[in-house]
Amino acid sequence: MNSVIYFSKNIAPSKVICIGRNYVAHIEELNNEIPSEPVIFIKPNSSVTSELFTHNKDSIHYETEICFMVNQGKLYAIGLGLDLTKRDIQTQLKQKGLPWERSKAFDHSAVLSEFIELPESIEDISFTLHINGDQVQEGSYALMLHKPQSLLKEIQSFMSTNDGDIIMTGTPKGVGTVKKGDQFEMRLYQKSQCLLTWTLIAK
Ligand code: ZN
Repeated sequence: MNSVIYFSKNIAPSKVICIGRNYVAHIEELNNEIPSEPVIFIKPNSSVTSELFTHNKDSIHYETEICFMVNQGKLYAIGLGLDLTKRDIQTQLKQKGLPWERSKAFDHSAVLSEFIELPESIEDISFTLHINGDQVQEGSYALMLHKPQSLLKEIQSFMSTNDGDIIMTGTPKGVGTVKKGDQFEMRLYQKSQCLLTWTLIAK
């Protein structure tokens, strides 16, 4: 099983639960409708990785997202993740009304940072993504349509969470293509305090 790191322990999530369309500006960027309830899909354990691969054949989009690890049914730890997406394939599947797995659940599609202790208050958390030094995404609790606690409740209304499962809370605007050699630097903040810095080079 693939795993993520929490306090130097390896933890294998049984699944990664992803939220789509949780930031208004990103919904507009993809010409989607604002959903009345959260869009939820999963990535299997086989999609989990800590490395960023470009995949030769299909172009891959990055989506930077605040992530939570669940333990005993509660939000337990926090980290960052890239929800990698084969956007062209996803667009075709969406048009046909088909499931998204080919575009969202492939190997290495859930790129996850190490996880750290949940801060006392998550209401003032935010993150940035810089690619090759330029800031291209920023998101925050404040900008989320559905907040993490209510997302967890919604997920658990129809699906059990196992210890170690990860919730990816959706991406803000600024998604784009991953190119080989790009340097991704993601930072998680609480107010102005940086809790986590995560750097990846696209392979
Ligand atoms: Zn996403």
